[in-house]
Amino acid sequence: MNRRELGDRVADAAVAGSGVLLAAFLVWYVGGWGGETLRAYVTDGMYPPLALLSTVLGLRVVRRGGLDARARRAWRFITAAFFCQFVAHASWFVGDVILHSDTYPSFADYWFLAFVPFLFIGLLLLPGVHRHRRDKIKLALDSLIVGASTFMVVWYLVLGPMVCSEGASFEQVFYSAALPVGDLVLIVALATVLLRRSAATRAPIRLLACGVAVYVVADLYYGWIQLHAGFVGGTWPDLFWLAGCFMFILSAHRQYRTARAAGGRGAGSRTTINWLPYGAIALAYGLFGALAREQGMYPFGGMIAGAVLLTTLIVARQMYALRENRQLAFTDPLTGLANRTLVAERLAELSAQPLDEGRHAAVMVIDLDRFKPVNDRYGHNAGDAVLSAASAAVRSVLRAGDTAGRLGGDEFAVILHNLPDRAAAARIAERLVEALHTPVIFGDYLLETSASIGVAVRDELTPEGDPLMQHADAAMYAAKRAGRDRYAMFTPELDTRARDAELRRAIDDGDLVVLFQPAVDLATGAVVAVEALVRWRHAQRGLLMPAEFIELAEETGAIVPLGEWVLREACHEAARWRATVPGTEHMRLSVNLSPAQVHQPALVDTIRNILTETGFPANRLVLELTEGVILEPDSQVVARLESLRRLGISIAVDDFGTGYSALSYLRRLPVDVLKIDRSFVTGIADDPQARTVAEAVVRLGMAFRMSVVAEGIETADQARILAAMGCGFGQGFHFCKPLHGRTAAQVLRRTYRGVGAEE
Ligand code: C2E
Ligand code: CA
Ligand code: CA
Repeated sequence: MNRRELGDRVADAAVAGSGVLLAAFLVWYVGGWGGETLRAYVTDGMYPPLALLSTVLGLRVVRRGGLDARARRAWRFITAAFFCQFVAHASWFVGDVILHSDTYPSFADYWFLAFVPFLFIGLLLLPGVHRHRRDKIKLALDSLIVGASTFMVVWYLVLGPMVCSEGASFEQVFYSAALPVGDLVLIVALATVLLRRSAATRAPIRLLACGVAVYVVADLYYGWIQLHAGFVGGTWPDLFWLAGCFMFILSAHRQYRTARAAGGRGAGSRTTINWLPYGAIALAYGLFGALAREQGMYPFGGMIAGAVLLTTLIVARQMYALRENRQLAFTDPLTGLANRTLVAERLAELSAQPLDEGRHAAVMVIDLDRFKPVNDRYGHNAGDAVLSAASAAVRSVLRAGDTAGRLGGDEFAVILHNLPDRAAAARIAERLVEALHTPVIFGDYLLETSASIGVAVRDELTPEGDPLMQHADAAMYAAKRAGRDRYAMFTPELDTRARDAELRRAIDDGDLVVLFQPAVDLATGAVVAVEALVRWRHAQRGLLMPAEFIELAEETGAIVPLGEWVLREACHEAARWRATVPGTEHMRLSVNLSPAQVHQPALVDTIRNILTETGFPANRLVLELTEGVILEPDSQVVARLESLRRLGISIAVDDFGTGYSALSYLRRLPVDVLKIDRSFVTGIADDPQARTVAEAVVRLGMAFRMSVVAEGIETADQARILAAMGCGFGQGFHFCKPLHGRTAAQVLRRTYRGVGAEE
C-alpha cells in the first residue's frame, strides 16, 4: 500500500468515524440524558474535531484532488472557510467550557463571521458551464431575487428588531447585524451555485450547499434568540450546525474521490433549478401573508393579495415570453419541426440516460429521395411544399413525446423514447416510409415523393457513447443503396470506421485470399491468362465476395494496401507456376487496379518493387482499370500508365461499355486490352440487340488493335457466337470459375500437358 492509498484509507475511516460519533451524539441528545450543562459542554466538544476534519479533507482536495486551476482556487477559499470554523469552534469551546465567559460577541463569534466571506468567494469561484453574457445576467438576477426574498425574512426576524432595539452596545449591534447579513450573502452565493447547472448537479457541491443552508437556518435563529432571550448551548440549532459540519466533511471527501476517479469530468445534465427564484418569492409573500393576518385584513390583506396576483401575472408573462423565445430558437421556420440545435440537445439528453435493460430508444435519419430534381425543375416553392408535406407525414406517425426535427435541406431526424422493443422501431420506420410515400399536389403537378430512412436503436446492447446519429446516417445510406423508398436498421457492418479497421486488420492478418480465373483463347480453348480476384475469409461472416467490401475499401482508402497485397500475392503464385508448370511461361496474369491506386504517386515504384521481389516478369502482367479512371485521366495518371507501359506491363479496360464510354480515350491512352462487360455477353444468344452491341465492341477493339476479352461467358453458345464475331478471348463460368491457387495450378498442369500433347 503506498502513501496515497494509506491516506485514502485513513480519510475513509475518519469520515466514517465522524458519522458514527455524530449518530451516537444524536441518540444521546434525543434520549435526553445528562443535565443541561453537560449537554452544552458535550455539544461544544463535538464541533472542533468535526471542523478540523473538514479542514484537513479540504486541504487534501486542494493539494492533490486532481482539480483544474479554477476549482482548486475555489476549494482553497472553501477550505479557508472550514479553517475559520475550526478556530471559531475551538475558541468557543475554550471560552464556554473552560473560561465560562459569556461575552457577546466573543472572540469565537468573529471567526464565525470570517467564515462567511471565504465561503462566499469559494462558492462563487466554483466552475460552472461556459455561459453567454445574457445567461450570466439572468443568473445574477435570479440570485438577487432569492437574495431579496431572503432579506425580507432576515429583516423581519433579526435585522429589523435589532436595528430598532435599544440599549445594545455598538459591538452587539454590529455583530448581530453582520451575522444575518453574512447569511444573506451566503444565500445569494448558494442560489448562484444551485442555479448554475453543471456545478449544482455534482454531489460534492450539493452537499456543500445543503451544509450552508442548514447553517444559515441555525444562524438566523441564533441571531434572533440572542436578541430576545440569549442563546443556550445544546439546543436544536446545535443539531443543525453539527449536521452542517458533517456535510462539509462529506462534501470535501466526495470532492476528493470524484475528482480523482473522473479526472474532474464536468456533468452536463440539465436539471435546472429554475423554480428557485419563484420559490423565494413565494416564501416572501408567505411571510407577508402571515404578518397581514396578525395585523388584520385592512389595509394589508387586500394589498398583499393584489401584489401576489400582480407578481403571478408577471411571472406568467415572463414564462410565456420565454416559451416563445425558446420556440423561435429551436424550431425550423418552414416545417415547424425542431431544428438541428434542438435535435442535438435531445440527442445529448438521450445519450446521457443510462442504458437499462428493456429500455429501447431509436434515432432515425430521414432523407427524401430525389428531392433536388423536384426543387430544380419545379422551383423552390415546390420544394417547400414537399418539405412541409413530409414534415406533416412524419408528425402524423409520431406520438407526443417523440422528437421530430429537420436537420437541414431534405434531411429529417426522429428521436423515439421508450419503445417496447427493437421491432417497434422497425414498425414505426415502416409507417414513416409509407406516410412519406404519399404524392404531393403542387399547383397542377403531382409530385412523387419517397424517403430513405436509417434507424439506429439504443438499448442495453448498445456500447456506451455510441454515435447514434452517425449510425442512423450510415443506415440511411444503406437504405439508399438498396434502392431508396425504404428503411434500413443500423447493423455493425454499416459502421464504416469499424469495418475499415476490421478490413485493414484482415489485410495484415492474412485473412484475404486471392482466387484465379482463367481466360481462354476462344479459337483453341487454351488458357492464355488468369485474373486475380480477391476474397475475404471473415471469421464470423464466412467467405466475402468483393462486392461486400471493395466499395468500402475504395471509400476509406484501404483499397491501396489491399490492392498492393493482391498484386504481390498473385505475382508470387504466378511466378511459382512459371517455375513448376511447364508451358505457363507465356501465360499472363491480370490484376485489378482501383482508381485510388492509380492516383497514388508511388504506384510505379510499388509495382516495380513487387515485380523484383517476386520475380514475375513485367511483360506478362496486365493491369485492369475501369473506364472511370481512364475517362478522366489527369496528366499524372497518364504519365504513370505510360511508365508502367514502358516497364512492359499491359493495360486493360475492364467492364468496357458500362461506363460513360467515350471512344476518344481509346485512341489517346496507352491501352492494350478491352474486356467486354458481362452484361453484353449475357443476352448474346437470343437478343439480337445485345448481339449487335457486342459485335460493335469487338470490331472497335479490333480497329484499335487491342486484344478483346469477353467476360462472363456462361454457355457454349455464347462462346461460339463470340468466337464467330472475331472476339479473341473469353472468360467465364463456362470455362472455369475462380479457383484457389493450388487448384488453379492443377488445372493449368492438366491443360498445358493437354496442349503439349496435341502439339
Ligand atoms: P471484375 O474485374 O469484372 O471481375 C470479374 C467478376 O465476374 C468476378 O467477380 C468473377 O468471379 C465474375 N465472373 C467471372 N465469370 C463469370 C460468369 O460466367 N458469370 C458470372 N455471373 N460471373 C462471372 P468477383 O470475383 O466477385 O469480383 C467482382 C469485382 O470485384 C471484380 O469485377 C473487380 O471489379 C472487383 N475485384 C475483385 N478483386 C479485386 C482486386 O483484387 N482489386 C480490385 N481493385 N478489385 C477487385
Ligand atoms: Ca477485372
Ligand atoms: Ca470486368
